[in-house]
Amino acid sequence: MSGEHVLHGLGVAPGVATGRVHLIDRRRKKYPKRRVSADVVDAEVLRLESAWQEARELLLSLKEKAGEHSAILEAHLLMLEDPLLIDGAKKHILDDRKCAEWAIRATVTEIRTRFEALDNAYFRERRSDVDFVGDRLLDALGGDPASGGLAAEVIPDDAIIVAHELSPGDAIALARRKVRGFVTEVGGATSHTAILARALEIPAVIACKGVLDRAASGEEILVDGLRGEVVLSPSPAAHARFQTFQSIHNARQSDLRADEGLPGETPDGRRVELLANVEVPDEVPAAVARGAGGVGLYRSEFLFLNRSEVPNVDEHEQAYDAILSALDGRPATLRTFDLGSDKLSAAIRAPREQNPALGLRGVRLGLARLPALRAQLRGMVRSLSRRRHGQILLPMIGSVEEVLAVRALLREEMDTLHDEGVDVWRQIPVGVMIELPAAVWIADALAEVADFFSVGTNDLIQYMLAIDRGNEHVAHLYQPLHPAVLRALRHVVEAGHHAGKSVSLCGEMAADPSFAPVVLGLGFDSLSMPVASLRAVKHVIRRFRYDDAQKLVQQCLAASTSAAVQKLVRKELILRGLYEAD
Ligand code: PEP
Ligand code: MG
Repeated sequence: MSGEHVLHGLGVAPGVATGRVHLIDRRRKKYPKRRVSADVVDAEVLRLESAWQEARELLLSLKEKAGEHSAILEAHLLMLEDPLLIDGAKKHILDDRKCAEWAIRATVTEIRTRFEALDNAYFRERRSDVDFVGDRLLDALGGDPASGGLAAEVIPDDAIIVAHELSPGDAIALARRKVRGFVTEVGGATSHTAILARALEIPAVIACKGVLDRAASGEEILVDGLRGEVVLSPSPAAHARFQTFQSIHNARQSDLRADEGLPGETPDGRRVELLANVEVPDEVPAAVARGAGGVGLYRSEFLFLNRSEVPNVDEHEQAYDAILSALDGRPATLRTFDLGSDKLSAAIRAPREQNPALGLRGVRLGLARLPALRAQLRGMVRSLSRRRHGQILLPMIGSVEEVLAVRALLREEMDTLHDEGVDVWRQIPVGVMIELPAAVWIADALAEVADFFSVGTNDLIQYMLAIDRGNEHVAHLYQPLHPAVLRALRHVVEAGHHAGKSVSLCGEMAADPSFAPVVLGLGFDSLSMPVASLRAVKHVIRRFRYDDAQKLVQQCLAASTSAAVQKLVRKELILRGLYEAD
């Protein structure tokens, strides 16, 4: 074995792990590539269908075992059941006379290519989910359906998994077997594997180029899932350095746990609601268990994905009922579907556009596809009326007219339900997302027609700075601390509060603990974020005085560059021992 070798990737799940390399290299796996003659084509289709059944049963049983992460397996089942996959593969058998294995691989590649073409990193990352589903079909064809891929592999106790790419299903199977860490060559921070690694608290480094060629099975390895560092065959000096990282991490974890069950409240008594962003209703119980005070953003567009028909009123109602009942009276903000741009659904055909981020998306698409929006609003009214609880949020609002148009539809749906004998809750609060620079500057007017604001910084930054949020070539210019962004946020909070309306922040900016003093000082009433970030953000909020945060924001607002703002904020965090990558 050669000497020490240091590699760098993206740290996506903090923590330090020491162990031995356990290589998983799917790329070396070979599948048959046969042509089939006309007389056995039907038999080949039958082989495919029975493999599909076996794969489905396996996914159902994995889903049962996945507990709070079952939503991911549910998404895999939907992918498996999507006609795109099975009909695509059948077509390759029938038309091209390919064997079932070849047909599946070709179809998976086609679906993968579609995902790769999407702008949104979250959706691009769904590639590995497609691979996972395809692999289960291939395993089933190979007569080994019960293996569940990695579930059957013998993995030593001190294993750190090194792979080209891991599917979320692999991550679940591995986590149950107590592996110490993950290192992969590809992937993004929003991949399900990264999200799962964070949720399971397994140190993970992704996008670590060349690790598969460098690492040897059984070689000693150190992984720092915060800084993104990986050391193969470490020297005593590297061991000592990682030991220090480990102690810092342990101290931090016990600090974070100390806040469990406590509210998001600053030392001088300012209370900030810490809420969860969720994409599937199944996530809600886990979010509450991890300390979320409620759901600040439910991205209902996920109801429309992986299907060819828009959800009907009953399906909408069931989804919202599931969320509201899991929340048991805690705040619940349900956003109407934000499809279009990079989130496409076969159920609602959006036109091909030159600039889809500036096209028919969010509420604009809803107002252009009225039956779909009406069905959703009716489902919301039914569900929210029953409990007299929850609120509706409208995405991509750019004008007062759009809010009034949706409110008119909502009234009509309420009237119809009333006529049907439903005890309608007429006062359902309706809020708007502030995501367009236009919405920032008419915030005062919007406050007159909306009951609350929720600022979507993911899009607001994209539109203010003209930075496509999924384009890696300009990713370095995507700066949440840009003075223009801060000034816009200040304006929105002031306009909302001036009109007596609450103002929430639900973009990823709310999820970064190093931005917490700024969003606190700006005066947001609540912060909504992925569940995995709640603890770390609460940790900062509970240790940063509100009056200090307000003073810090005054200085930041006077700064002229992002770098200057960053320096100011970092200094205050370091002073309080809150700077994470220290
Ligand atoms: C946002 O734009 O910040 C937001 C929360 O909405 P989404 O990420 O779903 O566009
Ligand atoms: Mg948005």
